[in-house]
Amino acid sequence: MPLELPPTFAFSQSSLQSYVNCPRRFWLAYVEELTWPALEVAPYDEHEQLLRRGAQFHRLVERAEAGLPKELLSQGLAHPLDEWFESYLRHRPADLPTEIVEVERVLSAPLAVEAGRTRLAARYDLIAVGGDDEDRRVVILDWKTNQRATRRSILQQRMQTLVYPFVLVEASAGLPWGPVSPEQVEMRYWFTAAPTEPVAFHYSSDLHAANRAKLNNILNEILRGENRADFPKVVDTDENRRRFCSFCVYRSRCDRGIGAGSLEEFDEAEFPDADLEDALDFTLEEVLELAF
Ligand code: SF4
Repeated sequence: MPLELPPTFAFSQSSLQSYVNCPRRFWLAYVEELTWPALEVAPYDEHEQLLRRGAQFHRLVERAEAGLPKELLSQGLAHPLDEWFESYLRHRPADLPTEIVEVERVLSAPLAVEAGRTRLAARYDLIAVGGDDEDRRVVILDWKTNQRATRRSILQQRMQTLVYPFVLVEASAGLPWGPVSPEQVEMRYWFTAAPTEPVAFHYSSDLHAANRAKLNNILNEILRGENRADFPKVVDTDENRRRFCSFCVYRSRCDRGIGAGSLEEFDEAEFPDADLEDALDFTLEEVLELAF
C-alpha cells in the first residue's frame, strides 16, 4: 500500500527538503498535516516582518516584470523594500532572454516510481526564454531576500536546485515554447543581499539523469513508508538540534528543546525548508489545470 497523502498534494522542493533534513518533519507536516503552535524563529515579530517584506518584494517585481511603471511602484516604499527594489532596478541581470518572460508560473510533471505514481510541482519567480529550437535558452531566476546571500556550495546541495530545472525540462513538452533540452536550461539565484553576485547553475542531460535517479530513491523511500516509525527523527546531535530542531515548530513535541532559534542565527541555507519567501503550497485548482 503506497503512502496515503492528501488528494491535493504535489511534491515540491520544500516538502522534499523537509524529508531530506528530517523524515519525521515530513511526516508531521505533510502526512498528518499537523499544525503546532511553536515559533520557528525568535523574535517572532521580526521574522514575520521579514516574511511579509519578502512577499511584498516578490509582488513588486512581478508587477515590474508585467510592465507597470517603475516610478509608480517605487513610490512610498518602506525600508528595506525601497533599497531592495532599487537594487532590482539597477542589477536585474542584463543577459536574460527577452522573447518570453513568465512570472510566478507553476509547472508540474508526473513521476512514476516503483512505489507508485506521483507528481512534482514548482512555482517559479521568473522564467526567461529566448532563441529558437536548437538555440533555445531558458533561464530560471529565483529572487532571494534573506539577510545573507547563500554560498554556492550550499545552494548546490539544495532540493530547489534539483527540482526547478528538472520539473521545467519534464513539463516543457506541453508548453508553447517547449520542449527544451537540459543543456538549454540555467538556474540562477539573485540576492537582495548581494545583487551583483547572482549564483548560476548550468543544467545538463547527465545532471537530469542523476536527478531522476535521486528523486526515484527519495520518492520510493517516502511512498513505501507506512507509518510514523518509517519516518524517524533526525539523529539527535548538538549540530542537528542547532541546524534543524531549533528552527522547527515541532521541537517541543519531539522533545528537542523549547526555545526558538534566534533570527540572528537563522540561516536559510542551513534550514531551507523554512524559506522566508516561498510557501510552496499548491492549490487543487493549480495542480488540476496542469498537464498530468
Ligand atoms: S523537531 Fe527536530 S526531530 Fe522533530 S520534526 Fe523537527 S527537525 Fe525533526
